[in-house]
Amino acid sequence: STKHIVPKVCIVGAGPAGFYAAQQLLKGTNNIEVDILEKYPVPYGLVRFGVAPDHPEVKNVIHTFEKTASNPRFRFIGNVDVGKDVTIKELQELYHAVLLTYGAEEDKVFNIPGENLNNVISGRRFVGWYNGVPADSNLNINLDVEEAVILGQGNVAIDIARILLTPVDKLKNTDITSFALERLSRSKVRKVSLIGRRGPLHAAFTIAELREILKLDGCKTYWRADDFINVREVVSTLARPRKRLTELMLKYLEEMSSDTKAATKELHPIFLRSPVQFLGTDRVHSVKLSINKLQGDDIHQQVAVSTGLFEEIPCGLAFRSIGYKSVAVESSLPFDAKLGRIINSGGKVQDKLYAAGWIATGPMGVILSTMTNAFQVGALINKELLITGNKPGSVGLSRILDQRGRRVTTYNDWKKIDAVECERGEKLGKPREKIVDTNEMLEIASR
Ligand code: FAD
Repeated sequence: STKHIVPKVCIVGAGPAGFYAAQQLLKGTNNIEVDILEKYPVPYGLVRFGVAPDHPEVKNVIHTFEKTASNPRFRFIGNVDVGKDVTIKELQELYHAVLLTYGAEEDKVFNIPGENLNNVISGRRFVGWYNGVPADSNLNINLDVEEAVILGQGNVAIDIARILLTPVDKLKNTDITSFALERLSRSKVRKVSLIGRRGPLHAAFTIAELREILKLDGCKTYWRADDFINVREVVSTLARPRKRLTELMLKYLEEMSSDTKAATKELHPIFLRSPVQFLGTDRVHSVKLSINKLQGDDIHQQVAVSTGLFEEIPCGLAFRSIGYKSVAVESSLPFDAKLGRIINSGGKVQDKLYAAGWIATGPMGVILSTMTNAFQVGALINKELLITGNKPGSVGLSRILDQRGRRVTTYNDWKKIDAVECERGEKLGKPREKIVDTNEMLEIASR
């Protein structure tokens, strides 16, 4: 009989997708045990390492994750890099099902000349730098320059612009890393261009994101009238959210000359431009942009094509922010390199192997959409879970990791690290001071 056999599921990656799927699994199957493996000693993925420090309310989802973690049938196993410390095949032997939720670890590149010049910075790494990603704490960035460009206009690009343009006083009570805060307090950047390849009608930011940046103290936004040629004519035909966003941009464009806001910093949203080359000798000094036009009758389907004309914008600092990219942690995984995701059908990869969150959908969407996806995949696993015999689960995994000399962290270890971070933060008037050295995390865990 399979009555007394405990179903065991292993989740790879302790970000929102992993935690929400765990919640669903625990709810849906009696006596199931869910182990969540995480590369870092600490949980929460991009909620800790991506979400902007000045948006603390977004991190409230952690309360839900803490509730899941308090379930006795849930186990967090940190500091395990799946693909290196243990293989997916091994996990499949140890558990009844394996769910991959390991997100997106790299970023898209332009592959254009000059991309390796100093101060051409990966937006993903800059975010990691101010948010305490261990590998990004040594980011080689020079903020001793006045003009910066951000290539991309998505939510990450907007976060970067806001962090560069926000008065540092407004950041000092957030959980931004102290070393980033210190460097930002001496930053000379006063002009930031936010560059997108299509037009205002295709802007990738939301109205809330735009409003927030338009209202920044001491910063004025400069729109280019040329970018809005033919835009006003179609506003009335747009769907409501797009219509309101476009109207807001047009309003600010119209009021620009009469705006008397006192400002030392400038934001320049620029549309219809794609980078073709970064120029400079050692460090970047400008970016060469192709001037684009839009092709196609349907506004929503329009693509940007080069006019053959170019514009050069001076910049001592350039951020590449055109999206994250998922990777296959093992070459045997069916992986769609173009879409940047594991090939799956509604979350199913193969028999007993599933994927959810950014690794399954591609790196797009917010925590809410990730949650919806993870709940669906969790429910699918519950439905398909086939228990034919006992599986060793975490006991077998511990044996393997011990043999390989891998020191893992538990959720209780994370609580110790969390307490130290909060304590250090309190002294600085911040919610927490993140620890960025994984060895120090492990040392605290073993106290
Ligand atoms: P992730 O959050 O990336 O979690 C994946 C986890 O897997 C990580 O903990 C990672 O360390 C781990 N992992 C990776 N490789 C391995 C491995 N080999 N072995 C074990 N573990 C591994 N959404 C909002 O709703 N609001 C916001 O304000 C917001 N801001 C954002 C800002 C930035 C800069 C970014 C990039 C995203 C933001 N998002 C925001 C989107 C949100 O972060 C994502 O929707 C969500 O985090 C995706 O969840 P996930 O679990 O799929 O991936």
